Amino acid sequence: MRLVVASNNPGKLREFGELLAPLGWETIPQRELGVTECEEPHGTFVENALAKARHASASTGLPALADDSGLCVHSLGGAPGVYSARYAGEPKSDERNNAKLVAELSGRSDRRAHYVCVLVFVRHADDPQPLIAEGEWHGEIVDTPRGQGGFGYDPYVLIPELGLTAAELDAAEKNRRSHRGQALALLVERLKNRRS
Ligand code: IMP
Repeated sequence: MRLVVASNNPGKLREFGELLAPLGWETIPQRELGVTECEEPHGTFVENALAKARHASASTGLPALADDSGLCVHSLGGAPGVYSARYAGEPKSDERNNAKLVAELSGRSDRRAHYVCVLVFVRHADDPQPLIAEGEWHGEIVDTPRGQGGFGYDPYVLIPELGLTAAELDAAEKNRRSHRGQALALLVERLKNRRS
């Protein structure tokens, strides 16, 4: 069974491929099939992920998997949330996003934050019953970056029970614990259990 993955992120594509191969799914990155980047105009993760999945499926005629993710900071009312990739504006820059995050939190004692990942699987573009799976990963924002792994906000997200930032974990450990890893495990269960 072939599945188009609506992402251009190499790390995510590898992870999705590894987890879905045992179920007999061959995952194909959308870029290889000429799928154009989809608009992400919505205010919720699930709506953006659904838009990406439907777009990839409509363009290819294949079942599609899409994800949308971000960092929600409690004392910032959930920001940057769905706008995480472009928090500091265009063009996308992890460095400027992180600088803005640290500046916004200056003087604030509540450092709680969580990553969110929502995955959506559609069998075809008009699928009335998409499979949806969500994961959350909780931490605290620190002012001084630590670690070389991961990407995005990871050097600033401390996982309190480990005493390490997300960027200090190796890839396998991050995948086991992360919002994306949790959502993917849930989605795989739902795919296995699906009867229709
Ligand atoms: P997208 O799901 O690829 O659109 O990612 C949204 C944005 O959220 C990324 O560009 C990062 O800024 C942030 N983000 C999502 N997941 C992670 C993660 O695991 N580590 C660090 N940043 C993340």
